[in-house]
Amino acid sequence: MSSSQINPPPRLLMGPGPINADPRVLRAMSAQLVGQYDPAMTGYMNEVMELYRGVFKTSNEATFLVDGTSRAGIEAALISLIEPGAKVLVPIFGRFGHLLKEIAVRAGAEVAVREKTWGQVFTPEEIEQAIIEERPALLALVQGDTSTTMNQPLEDIGEICQRHGVLFYTDVTASLAGNEFSADEWKIDAVTAGLQKCLGGPSGSAPISLSDRAVDAIRSRRHVEAGIADGTAGRGTRIASNYFDLAMIMDYWAPQRLNHHTEATSMLYGARECARLLLDEGLDAAVARHELHGRAMLAGVQGLGLEVFGDITHKMNNVVAVDIPAGVDGDAVRSAMLADYGIEIGTSFGPLHGKVWRIGTMGYNARKDAVMITLAALEQVLRAGGAEVRPGGGTGAAAEIYQDHAGSQAQQPGEVPA
Ligand SMILES: *Cc1c(COP(=O)(O)O)cnc(C)c1O
Repeated sequence: MSSSQINPPPRLLMGPGPINADPRVLRAMSAQLVGQYDPAMTGYMNEVMELYRGVFKTSNEATFLVDGTSRAGIEAALISLIEPGAKVLVPIFGRFGHLLKEIAVRAGAEVAVREKTWGQVFTPEEIEQAIIEERPALLALVQGDTSTTMNQPLEDIGEICQRHGVLFYTDVTASLAGNEFSADEWKIDAVTAGLQKCLGGPSGSAPISLSDRAVDAIRSRRHVEAGIADGTAGRGTRIASNYFDLAMIMDYWAPQRLNHHTEATSMLYGARECARLLLDEGLDAAVARHELHGRAMLAGVQGLGLEVFGDITHKMNNVVAVDIPAGVDGDAVRSAMLADYGIEIGTSFGPLHGKVWRIGTMGYNARKDAVMITLAALEQVLRAGGAEVRPGGGTGAAAEIYQDHAGSQAQQPGEVPA
């Protein structure tokens, strides 16, 4: 049997991720391989470390990639930071909080949780109270949870953690580059991400950054077998995973370049291009772009007469959860969007399954044309299914947001004409 060349159908991916990769990222990924220790390759590795320091807003030396999807970064961070038997606190406000809890349990932690009703976030006071009650060694908290679209404010949490001697890990996969994030200013000890949300790449690489405190905790778990004779090895329990042993992965990325895995070269090219494009645009500009197109999509679905789920004052810029109207078959609408218009929108999990659609405006797809086309298609699909929507209400409301924005841009004070 012969199979034909791969030729995926043209799609506009407007769900909660993955989204369409930026063509420049795909082109970077098609570049030829070089050897693992070729100076060109080690040079690219050093560039990637520096680029992601910019993306995470950190001066952390230990900033690199874990090979694998975002979950590989989460797992590497947790399995390397958590000593078996250690107490870990996981405040949960959506599906990915449950994932952190599950991985922490597998890492042998004694896990304490706090839970919020889906659609809400924690206050710093609630988190501090839980820290006082539980005395954890590590706090593991998601920033943007795509399952509920909520964006947990993190800016005060690191300070609280430091005061109580707690290490602070956060998963920013869904939020990074589309919402504010600042690793050093917010005193974050460990942060992991992925490429397939606001960074505009495919999944398969997990950028990570570790503070000196986190590096010390991890290095103390190195074992003499690793050949390290600097006296720091072997204080803690050996990290249970080889592939996700961040002490070994750091030794591979750091100057000594001790062999560990074979770096996923094509993914590294892609991750490098994602960061390069983002820093070229400017982090603030990228966040502002996600804010604008997210606001247009929000106004658009509301303009159609649809209701939006959750506390929208804490909504991520890059995704909105839309209540499926009574009497409308949510899965049939998603199927029609895909079959008739080539547009993918998302469903949800757990308590929200069958209750909301999730519509993303992120990365390469945080664009006006993508927003307008999605709203126009959604209107037609809903009308074809007999739902009551305001004709032109979605695209009209979004267009107004864009017009106001263009107006305010035109009047920017202090602009010098070219
Ligand atoms: C999308 C998402 C992930 C994705 O993990 P993968 O392993 O890349 O599928 C992880 N964490 C959060 C918060 C996400 O929104």
